[in-house]
Amino acid sequence: MAIYKNGNLLHHSQDQAFDAVHSPGTAAPFAGIYRCATCGHEVGIAHGHTLPPQGHHQHAPGIGPIRWQLLVFAQHNP
Ligand SMILES: [Zn+2]
Repeated sequence: MAIYKNGNLLHHSQDQAFDAVHSPGTAAPFAGIYRCATCGHEVGIAHGHTLPPQGHHQHAPGIGPIRWQLLVFAQHNP
């Protein structure tokens, strides 16, 4: 689970971007932290990069494939 200290520096959002589930190896729509919806493994992704491929980390047999979900969106200053 992602950990933070200064909650006043984070903004709570209901944006649907946080509900979308992305396949391994596809373009990350935003820079930020992504969480595997299957096992909870988290990764940081830079702007313009792709999500880690299937096989990036191991799952216990039978729980299913890696599925990435946006956890924290990194907001860039204009
Ligand atoms: Zn996983």
